[in-house]
Amino acid sequence: MTCWPSVIVATPAHSGVSASLSYRSELLLAPGTLVRVPLGKREVLGVVWDCPTEPPEGLTDSQTREVTGTLDGLPPLNARWRQLVKFAGQYYQRSLGEVALAALPPQLRELDNTQLARRLKRRTQAAAQPAESKLDQQTQPALSAEQAEALSVLDTASVPVLLFGATGSGKTEVYLRATQRVLDAQGTGGTPTQVLVMVPEINLTPQLEARFRERFEPLYGAGAVVCLHSGMTPAQRLASWLSAHTGVARIVLGTRMAIFASLPGLRLIVVDEEHDPSYKSQEGARYSARDLAVYRAKIESEALSTAGGVAGTRCQVILGSATPSLESWHAADQGRYLRLAMPARIGGGSLPRLRLVDMNHQPKGAVIAPPLLAAMGERIARGEQCLVLLNRRGYAPVLACHDCGWKSGCPHCSAYRVFHKLDRTLRCHHCGFTERVPRACPDCGNLDIAPVGRGTEQVEEQLAALLADARRPDGQPPRVARMDADSTRLKGSLETQLAALHSGEVDVLVGTQMIAKGHDFRRITLVAGINVDAALFASDHRAPERLFALLMQAGGRAGRDAAHSAASEMWVQTWTPEHPLFAALKTHDFPAFAAEQLAEREIAGMPPFGAQALLRADARTQAAAQAFLNLAAAQAVGLPHRDAITLYPAVPLTIQRVANVERAQLLVESASRGALQRFLSAWGPVLHDCRSAPEARGLVRWAVDVDPQVI
Ligand SMILES: [Zn+2]
Ligand SMILES: [Zn+2]
Repeated sequence: MTCWPSVIVATPAHSGVSASLSYRSELLLAPGTLVRVPLGKREVLGVVWDCPTEPPEGLTDSQTREVTGTLDGLPPLNARWRQLVKFAGQYYQRSLGEVALAALPPQLRELDNTQLARRLKRRTQAAAQPAESKLDQQTQPALSAEQAEALSVLDTASVPVLLFGATGSGKTEVYLRATQRVLDAQGTGGTPTQVLVMVPEINLTPQLEARFRERFEPLYGAGAVVCLHSGMTPAQRLASWLSAHTGVARIVLGTRMAIFASLPGLRLIVVDEEHDPSYKSQEGARYSARDLAVYRAKIESEALSTAGGVAGTRCQVILGSATPSLESWHAADQGRYLRLAMPARIGGGSLPRLRLVDMNHQPKGAVIAPPLLAAMGERIARGEQCLVLLNRRGYAPVLACHDCGWKSGCPHCSAYRVFHKLDRTLRCHHCGFTERVPRACPDCGNLDIAPVGRGTEQVEEQLAALLADARRPDGQPPRVARMDADSTRLKGSLETQLAALHSGEVDVLVGTQMIAKGHDFRRITLVAGINVDAALFASDHRAPERLFALLMQAGGRAGRDAAHSAASEMWVQTWTPEHPLFAALKTHDFPAFAAEQLAEREIAGMPPFGAQALLRADARTQAAAQAFLNLAAAQAVGLPHRDAITLYPAVPLTIQRVANVERAQLLVESASRGALQRFLSAWGPVLHDCRSAPEARGLVRWAVDVDPQVI
């Protein structure tokens, strides 16, 4: 029997190739079947989306080409997976083929059926490894009352659970127990149950991976826990993917890309550190893995309930964080998520005491205030460790006057205008209002106006000199080490540096936000944030939220030993100690901070109270990039929901030129997420047409970023 499968292949978002292509096959192919098909002169990997037995209208036998072959031995990708991919494509304004094929391991394209069969066999053999008897389960730690309560609520929750647990409160044990329950449960239709655990950056959380392996490999075999992240080789990625797809792997531990893993028995998704910006992809389909996790759990649950399984069986999602994203916090406020609080630290250690240093009262030019230096000296003398946090996330520079406190605010918005060095302008990234940088402070006439946070770049170099008089217990000067993305790029160097730290070879660790994540530094009793003001006065409305999360997380590193925790301190240097963020930080009161931030966002109509998207353009000249954006805005007249949408003027990006490409963006806002979605879908073809307009000559590429993290 001849049929005409429609097949999804990898096509760029705006290539003009329609969503699926029609082929011919003598075999009836189930939707989700992986196939090889001819495309032009090449043969490419594709996914069967549908397989009608009637030829598509207007197409004859001779016009369609034959499917080359199927990938034997692989079960089709199931309907829920296809629905997830379809949703992601629609929501993030990318083609179905681009999202679907990017979600599959690249090596799948290169293997013939013999090679594939060999790899599949290897996977099932890994599963066949005898698991030790389930009777000698290792002794699990006793649950705290809070953990037990959280687990019992998890059992009955019918909405996503926001696990709001302080650093050190034992969230991981909750994840492990919830995983255990899912794995113990019976799967439907012979498919073993599976769990997806997502982490922001896998190399920074080796302890989490170790704990999952330690707990579950003795019970389910060495192949039961697999990883999925971009640091793996193509062969490793394929092996993990095959294990997950065939149900051999029971637990997939991965970064944001793991959200698209094929998991036929999925019953639980854990998103650890759910607030972390790295869950949002910054290239290709700019998806949020956290938001897709919530959607995926919903469609899995719907399928389970219609499949008529055990009553109440669903796919649960746990979003865990000590400082949840304001989106998730707001969803819990509204009852769309269930908030579970675990405020107590296991072992009873308390969070460090906050010491604010008012930089207005410190010697002029001091990078590190004398009282902080003295406190560090005392710790070093006692053989304890200090952690100095550099907040160097790429904040757009905002200008300030240190004499009177003037900041380069926008007269039309609640945003700060950004200092653009190239043409010495101040630009509002919200409304586009632009002026030349003033020669002097507009309020007091001071000539010395400069970006907030200036002068802290050399801290690392200066720190050793500043601490020259300090002495360790053995009479030696302290050893200062640096740890950030640059210093740990070499494979294994992160481990080496961590080992040095744990063994006490390092007295002072200086680093960026990465040092705040995941690790246990038992002997650290002082954490210092020395340049936090840039985040308080940023054009990006999410900057304070990120700063609060960073400081809470870093503070959580200190004094994890109950013996040290009473004396542990967090020092923060600031020019604006009266900022409400510090009051909340002092009492470790995230709910108060969240309430204050949400109230501000509601007034400004910012997410989660309004929806945003960015249209970005790269071009050979800034004029071409902006012309494309402004033309796209002009051509949007008459599109559906246009009246519910605000299109702002095009502005250059803060870092305007990269590798000789000029970058610009245009902000799209709406009070209604639905209206924004429908508008963007209708705008897509218009954008495609604008590309070939004479004004846009020199345009290199453009992309839509839905729910952008940075504006
Ligand atoms: Zn001034
Ligand atoms: Zn403005």
